[in-house]
Amino acid sequence: MQLKEIFEYIEKIGFLIFSTIENGCVHSRIAHFYACDDEGLYLRTMFIKPFYRQMIKTGNLAVCGMYPSTQISGSDENGVPHFEPGFTIRVTGDVRELPEDEIRKKAETNEQFKVALFDMKKYPATRNFIMYRGKGEIYDFDYEMVNRDHKLLRTRFAFGGAEYNPPGNTIIKERCTGCGDCFDVCTFKAIRPGNPYTMIGERCDECGSCVLVCPEDAIMQPGTI
Ligand code: SF4
Ligand code: SF4
Repeated sequence: MQLKEIFEYIEKIGFLIFSTIENGCVHSRIAHFYACDDEGLYLRTMFIKPFYRQMIKTGNLAVCGMYPSTQISGSDENGVPHFEPGFTIRVTGDVRELPEDEIRKKAETNEQFKVALFDMKKYPATRNFIMYRGKGEIYDFDYEMVNRDHKLLRTRFAFGGAEYNPPGNTIIKERCTGCGDCFDVCTFKAIRPGNPYTMIGERCDECGSCVLVCPEDAIMQPGTI
């Protein structure tokens, strides 16, 4: 997945939750990426804000958001909430500050940077950052399968040299006896019968039910993205 495609998902959401860490404490706020090019994703803040200080100190940023709605639209008889089908996105990565002249240069060929120029003039304390390396996941969901053939589908991505682990559990084929217990317990259609059974990682919610029931201890839990 290219940065441009990732940015299209981000733009659909608009404002996202941006998290940083300082002295062992996680801080979150609502912000947005205002631009994208082949080098990364761009954001801005003011240099007197803790957000600025935290990004300068750690160089790390985690971002997440949800589309089209974060509202709970109802619940079933067990109290399980319903969500309108949509997607979530999460990205975690490395950031660095960009000098003003670099933003001015980018604005000559990319309209998206003009808003940064406007803000830099209006608020002289404005500072720009680029997330130049990162990895993440689009989590497309339709739990009732109204519009899609899956309850969920994960698409993982990385840019700027970062790497990610594939989503979902793994079945160790040498241990699988084909009993089918994992298939019976999976409500996400993430396990394919066969000899051995196999995992469709993109559909796996990593709920762990199959891990608990496998009599052969044949299912490995996922790594982190
Ligand atoms: S529960 Fe374990 S042994 Fe049985 S089919 Fe699934 S992976 Fe194979
Ligand atoms: S972890 Fe959950 S969603 Fe994933 S394959 Fe196992 S039972 Fe299905």
